[in-house]
Amino acid sequence: MADDTATTEFDIVVLGGGSGGYATALRAAELGHRVALVEGDKLGGTCLHYGCIPTKALLHAAEVADEAREAHTVGVRAELHGIDVPQVNTYKDGVIGRLYKGLQGLVSSRKVTVITGWGTLSGPDSVDVDGVRYTGKHIVLATGSYSKSLPGLEIGGRVITSDAALTLDYVPGSVIILGGGVIGVEFASVWKSFGADVTIVEGLPHLVPNEDEALSKALERSYRKRGITFNLGDRFAGVTQNDSGVRVTLESGKTFDAELLLVAVGRGPRTADLGFEAQGLTLDRGFVIVDEKLHTGVGNIWAVGDIVPGLQLAHRGFQQGIFLAEQISGLSPAPIIEANIPRVTYCNPEVASVGLTEAKAKETYGDDGVETLEYNLGGNGKSQILGTQGFIKLVRAKSGPVVGVHMIGARVGELIGESQLIVSWEAYPEDVASLIHAHPTQNEALGEAFLALAGKPLHAHS
Ligand SMILES: Cc1cc2nc3c(=O)[nH]c(=O)nc-3n(C[C@H](O)[C@H](O)[C@H](O)COP(=O)(O)OP(=O)(O)OC[C@H]3O[C@@H](n4cnc5c(N)ncnc54)[C@H](O)[C@@H]3O)c2cc1C
Repeated sequence: MADDTATTEFDIVVLGGGSGGYATALRAAELGHRVALVEGDKLGGTCLHYGCIPTKALLHAAEVADEAREAHTVGVRAELHGIDVPQVNTYKDGVIGRLYKGLQGLVSSRKVTVITGWGTLSGPDSVDVDGVRYTGKHIVLATGSYSKSLPGLEIGGRVITSDAALTLDYVPGSVIILGGGVIGVEFASVWKSFGADVTIVEGLPHLVPNEDEALSKALERSYRKRGITFNLGDRFAGVTQNDSGVRVTLESGKTFDAELLLVAVGRGPRTADLGFEAQGLTLDRGFVIVDEKLHTGVGNIWAVGDIVPGLQLAHRGFQQGIFLAEQISGLSPAPIIEANIPRVTYCNPEVASVGLTEAKAKETYGDDGVETLEYNLGGNGKSQILGTQGFIKLVRAKSGPVVGVHMIGARVGELIGESQLIVSWEAYPEDVASLIHAHPTQNEALGEAFLALAGKPLHAHS
């Protein structure tokens, strides 16, 4: 970059205005720093525009469709006449639009300077955007992630990623989803509820393979019941497409045909060609390596969000942003414990978890050092009313604190708040068993599970 570029000085320059970047900017501004937030696309990033919010709006529309279909079972006469996809998109875009406006207002009211344009890291204390050099005592990298593909698998035509899936203006007759992780099973849930034939192909032995195996197996049972087809433990070999559809071939030679292929094989860090390596940052498969304080090891350059190895979740980005702003300000924020970050998959039925799976707990405490308990939602009044099946699985260190809570069933994502307090505060089952849970709520199922684990089950069959 030429030396005659204009210079603008800030305390903190944040590159990327998604969950991690804007949270850093908001908290830093609150703490009195002069902050520049550089964004090439839209403030709010993937989560608001191409991720969490649009997918959850689609999942809500899908839930309404299922409710209409099943209304007769509770004595309500209703009929599903079909899905008006343009109207679904209007609803989804309305939600995004209101949140986007709110976020823009928030950022401006905190006096954060938003710089619109694509930036590159040009020095240990500078970011260049469209020929202008912005310097900061601290630089925060928050450039996020993109939908990955596989070697030889080209995106285009009938082979799409979640970005295009969110803007489809029709319900496909049939879809193959490559990848049975969070994004794959969420889209499977939406499209099945909207009336499509859905097939998931996953190379690992289970759907949502990062969850406790009990949840994976329960989700597989539910999906089988819903008529969502899946093929596990067989890897993708190739795809061909023509005017009418796609044909996917697996390594075993099996083939599947559909109108569309959604590639949902994970998200890669957006760090290429941004000057990171030139400034001496350590990258591993594109991810920025940081220490527990989110420091890159170079000057005052820090990183947050999806470019940092670990769970790629918006609320992790928010918390890392808050942590970093406080850290830079000389406060002593509590370190973020990755295992205690709540995880929710918003498919039907929902899957939610926090802390260690049984397998991970056994790695830590030994095979004999772990106790588990499953509480069936069948014994929970509200779950019966909703007509949902599922369970809560608790994992504790033997005679010690609760180290994991794992749940499956309609709306169990709403139970993750209490679960994360229990795990983060290293509660004992006896501590929770004495707390009163309102009746009839699904939340009560958590209380019942802890009563049972504390050795005094109430509404639980032994
Ligand atoms: C389909 C889908 C569903 C999801 N659902 C959920 C969910 O339900 N819950 C959840 O917690 N997470 C969910 N996620 C993940 C979540 O969206 C991400 O974890 C989160 O957005 C990461 O935040 P970030 O700030 O690291 O990156 P991003 O949100 O990707 O933001 C990065 C920003 O930086 C900008 N940028 C990049 N490079 C530059 C540059 N050189 N110059 C200027 N600007 C730049 C980009 O335009 C972008 O706005 C989902 C993701 C997807 C794709």
